[in-house]
Amino acid sequence: SSYVGASSGGIAELYAQMQKAIGATERVFELLEEIPEKINSTEIQNFPKIKGDVSFENVAFTYPSRKEIQVLKEVSFTALSGQKIAIVGPSGAGKSTIASLLLRFYDTTGGSITIDNKNMLEYDLEALRGNMSIVPQDVILFGGTIKENIAYGKPNATEEEIILAAKQANALQFIQGFPEQFETVVGERGIKLSGGQRQRIAIARALLKNPSILILDEATSSLDSESEKLVQEALEILMEGRTSIIIAHRLSTIRSADQILVLDQGQITEKGTHQELIAIENGIYKNLSNLQFSDF
Ligand code: ATP
Repeated sequence: SSYVGASSGGIAELYAQMQKAIGATERVFELLEEIPEKINSTEIQNFPKIKGDVSFENVAFTYPSRKEIQVLKEVSFTALSGQKIAIVGPSGAGKSTIASLLLRFYDTTGGSITIDNKNMLEYDLEALRGNMSIVPQDVILFGGTIKENIAYGKPNATEEEIILAAKQANALQFIQGFPEQFETVVGERGIKLSGGQRQRIAIARALLKNPSILILDEATSSLDSESEKLVQEALEILMEGRTSIIIAHRLSTIRSADQILVLDQGQITEKGTHQELIAIENGIYKNLSNLQFSDF
């Protein structure tokens, strides 16, 4: 099989099972951050920091379980450190697959992905993922306290660091509203948080982890507007100074991106800034942007 496992061998296998069981690609994104396999680890994470230049060079990909379909064909783009790349395109175009490859859940079947000008295959998998965070559409927290959920990305984080991350993620206020505050148990056996609150916990976790590369899967269904505003503010802070690859649904994200990739049936059909793409007569992006943007 061509699954790429973590050193423990658990993630890839679980991932494959989950894929089979629920058939939802977005669950993949949650797994990386959800599995609390490191929570009791005393190991101090000392990964070499990467800068965050990401380059896809003629990337082709076919899922091992579905050899008849080439999901990505000749996908090429470069994100320089700190840039925001918005990927847009219809359902099934391959947007989530790009994110999965970046996380090295699978290896490309053609072309290559480089990070800081070095082939991704040359990096230690844990070090690579130690430099990345994901904020999925629908964040599932693991059963445990809010504190444990936030500190997951940095098990040796201090109390002050956890509080600061929660504050920057616009999560401190609601956390302090619970009687047990950071010790509040969440997940199936605990308090049920709203979608926006769970996202802000995931943002706090990512802030604490301080990755060079961020993968964001924007929600298609909008949160209530107050929560939406708090999440958006927190995301802006999180994205600052990091390379962000965003599966984008919000017009404001798309407009402010350094580069928009229009993906259709596994191919990048248009690439550029909002201004550049709306200048293409009869372009897909131009036509879509004249219609409903939320349909992306
Ligand atoms: P959406 O916007 O609906 O999430 P997407 O653009 O993210 O779509 P992908 O999820 O990357 O698209 O899917 C691209 C293609 O790959 C689809 O044809 C999909 O059915 C297929 N695919 C996705 N995940 C797998 C998998 N684990 N095994 C086999 N095929 C898959």
